[in-house]
Amino acid sequence: MRKKLAAGNWKMNGLHGNLQEIKNISEAVNADTCDVLICTPSTLIHSASDISNDIAIGGQDCHYNASGAHTGEISAEMLADSGASYVILGHSERRQDFSETDAMVRDKTKAAWAAGLTAIVCIGESLAQREASNTIDIIGGQLAASVPDKATGDNLVIAYEPIWAIGSGLTPTLDQIGEVHDYIRTRLERRFGTGVGRSVRILYGGSMNPKNAADIGQVSNVDGGLIGGASLKSDDFTLIIKALS
Ligand code: PEP
Repeated sequence: MRKKLAAGNWKMNGLHGNLQEIKNISEAVNADTCDVLICTPSTLIHSASDISNDIAIGGQDCHYNASGAHTGEISAEMLADSGASYVILGHSERRQDFSETDAMVRDKTKAAWAAGLTAIVCIGESLAQREASNTIDIIGGQLAASVPDKATGDNLVIAYEPIWAIGSGLTPTLDQIGEVHDYIRTRLERRFGTGVGRSVRILYGGSMNPKNAADIGQVSNVDGGLIGGASLKSDDFTLIIKALS
């Protein structure tokens, strides 16, 4: 049985003053709630992990090399050293803004695993791709090329994030979400075997909020959410955690 995961992605938001939000969220988390993760900016990982007993802390990207002359970059080991246990990789904003390819995401995932981090690998189609009925092909291709061999239920989480749903207030229908999540599950089982394939959590991401989280969370093979905007305010995020639990 996969426990649901509510994962917040703070993106480039948050100063030390915002750590109070993490304290507030901690108070809402207990043995009966789903797993909770907040991926803060790198500058907050250390302080956030110090104050969050029941919440995992993660990074939002890492380099595919372990160390070296890569000015401005951060390695997976540095994230782990700061207190992170997860890292988001291949988010569509990084694929678009920094031309990250599936091959780079795969290498970053390998680097994350070498540092003991769980990688949340993001995949998702653009609006044009959905309208051209190419969603399943795009998802299949990204999944095959972005995820390395040797995945397990502990080291990998997949986040299905339709690009057009991120920050837009739009979401696919529940049937559309179910179709993609079922397909991802089938592909994972086929590639990694049923045991591993069934243990990897598949999150939905894109305009999840306190109103739609419960319905989305009940769709088949939705094991939680990757939440951007609504994770910044503890009141909203706490409602999502409860809806997913
Ligand atoms: C995201 O960027 O991962 C995301 C899901 O954002 P939002 O919830 O704001 O759509």
